[in-house]
Amino acid sequence: DTPVLELRNVSKTYTVKQGIFGKPRPLRAVNDVSLSLGRGEVLGLVGESGCGKSTLAKILLGLEAPSEGQVLVDGRAMTGQDRIALSRRIQPIFQDPYSSLNPRKSIEDIVSLPLRVHRIGDAASQQKKVREILDIVGLPSRVARSYPSQMSGGQRQRVAIARALIMNPEIVICDEPTSALDVSVQSQILNLLGDLRQEFGLTYLFISHNLAVVEHLATRVAVMYLGRIVEEAGVATLFEEARHPYSRALLESVLTPDPGLGVPDTQLGAAYPNPISPPSGCAFHPRCASAMPQCSQIAPKPIATSDGHVECHLYDDAPIRAAS
Ligand code: SF4
Ligand code: MG
Repeated sequence: DTPVLELRNVSKTYTVKQGIFGKPRPLRAVNDVSLSLGRGEVLGLVGESGCGKSTLAKILLGLEAPSEGQVLVDGRAMTGQDRIALSRRIQPIFQDPYSSLNPRKSIEDIVSLPLRVHRIGDAASQQKKVREILDIVGLPSRVARSYPSQMSGGQRQRVAIARALIMNPEIVICDEPTSALDVSVQSQILNLLGDLRQEFGLTYLFISHNLAVVEHLATRVAVMYLGRIVEEAGVATLFEEARHPYSRALLESVLTPDPGLGVPDTQLGAAYPNPISPPSGCAFHPRCASAMPQCSQIAPKPIATSDGHVECHLYDDAPIRAAS
């Protein structure tokens, strides 16, 4: 089966200056990432802020071009003319329903915007479609005449979901879609996203700093650190026997009383490194409790596991096999 979404060796390098007189230096936000999503899969992409997950989302949405590598949708490369056509099949839901909805536009205008941009149907059919899609996301059709300021956070996120779905996308990129919401509302939105996946056969890339949120929806998990996927595995494997020390640290932070706060630095021993000057060898070594002498010298290579891969010297001499 051709994956619905595939990234092949995707990298993104920015040039950044530190201070007014700083020399321009390269920042490798995404570093040789390969991922593959089958139809109906939910890939949870997890990591702390600054790890490159939002840059990856922008590349998938066609908002940024990769510096190297390829993005393929149904086996077709997102380049040139195809980039516009294929990007219609990938729609976003962003973190903050307060800032992602234009406060001066009615819900009708907001949800129908993608149809108008792509000149799909006439005004009457667009109106009908808006009401259908509002119903699907659990909003009464009268909210079409409302404005974002008249709605709760959860309702606004339903509007953002409606706007994403109105284009009949195959792939939805959810970038921290519940982290701005109250905990009680979070689970409603996660349940809605799960139901919509089943109903429409959607494929999700679900980006979060919070593993607990991802566990609920994801079928697979990719853990990102300083631009690289350091471990990828099925969701059960990751939660039961995470292999990478960073994945384990993230999991332990899930088990602390306030998982919304992400990874406490005390647990990892050192702060998240500056991506402009990443640590040598394994970029995680200054924070890793299992670090060995070679870890600061040699970058680990990806090692295949039963259902994914891991990049860590702990597994160099002990190839990981499928459980027999
Ligand atoms: Fe830790 Fe070394 Fe593995 Fe990096 S390679 S995660 S420093 S044990
Ligand atoms: Mg982000």
